[in-house]
Amino acid sequence: MRVAFFSTKKYDRESFQRWLPKFSHQVSFFEAKLDKHSAILAQGHDAVCAFVNDQLDEGTLKNLSSLGIKLIALRCAGYNQVDLQAAKELKLTIVRVPAYSPEAVAEHAFALILTLSRKTHKAYNRVRESNFSLEGLTGCNIHGKTIGVIGTGAIGRAFCRIAKGFGVRILAYDIFENEEMKAMGVEYCNLDKLFAESKIISLHCPLTPETHHIINKKSLQKIQDGCMLINTSRGGLIETKSVISALKKGKIGFLGIDVYEQEEDLFFENLSEQILQDEQIARLMTFPNVLITGHQAFLTREALDQIAETTLENITAFEKNEKLINEVKM
Ligand code: NAD
Repeated sequence: MRVAFFSTKKYDRESFQRWLPKFSHQVSFFEAKLDKHSAILAQGHDAVCAFVNDQLDEGTLKNLSSLGIKLIALRCAGYNQVDLQAAKELKLTIVRVPAYSPEAVAEHAFALILTLSRKTHKAYNRVRESNFSLEGLTGCNIHGKTIGVIGTGAIGRAFCRIAKGFGVRILAYDIFENEEMKAMGVEYCNLDKLFAESKIISLHCPLTPETHHIINKKSLQKIQDGCMLINTSRGGLIETKSVISALKKGKIGFLGIDVYEQEEDLFFENLSEQILQDEQIARLMTFPNVLITGHQAFLTREALDQIAETTLENITAFEKNEKLINEVKM
């Protein structure tokens, strides 16, 4: 198939180039983000390949459909950026990569936890300036704490397996309980109990209308003082203004985020020569106990290879009219 890739970076092109010889697709790599204006670039192709911050709203989907596009192959797990109702009406097929190295994201969540709890980001900068003072670097153990995990899908489960090694109590909330997790000692409970008893809370559920702002003014009143909040899932799970207020009051003791509510206009780009217009992320960046990474939890060589292979397999299955095991349906 002729496939137009949007929002591509050097690392995307490299991983897909490694896998393309095994398939017979012809691809065009575009750096442009997909929206209703850039959709025209897909002219002459049969499918588009899109990523997390591409705008697959009704306008974009209509424009793609009018160009003869039949398939949207998402090279990511989340699909909250797609208007599924519009896609259904336009008879556009959506496929995704449901799991690609869940360990990559789970390990990144732990990188955030360990950096915040042991202040290694501050220590790194200090030592580079020959400042070997330990003042202000007192951390806290993970061992013996209670960790609350919201969402025990592929990534949440990988996170729990790692957490187990630290000797922690794990509380979990999910609409479906997982037997493997229960056998491992994970205690499922309601959200109120998880909020009340966890010293660290890590978000691993998808962004849906039910989970939008699951962390909000009300839920933040239920958490322990000084709780650590980790979000490697989707920015919209957190109501940023309430989190800023909770950080100012010390209610949240540490915040580690790889995703941000308004990340579309920021992440994946080098904006270092520009004036930052987003007041909320600018405020977050001033807190000494906040660590932000720019949606890089997925970015390991293993995960990129898996994304490329599964995406190209999804496209091949559609082309050959085979069963689409990774289709996203309404
Ligand atoms: P998954 O589908 O395997 O698991 C999601 C889990 O969330 C499921 O167990 C599901 O039952 C649960 N869930 C759904 N609705 C819920 C609700 N209302 N309350 C509680 N739990 C609910 O997905 P996954 O592969 O584990 O990925 C989780 C999320 O991580 C994705 O949706 C995506 O947004 C995010 N993600 C981020 C990155 C990154 O680079 N930062 C990379 C991949 C995925």
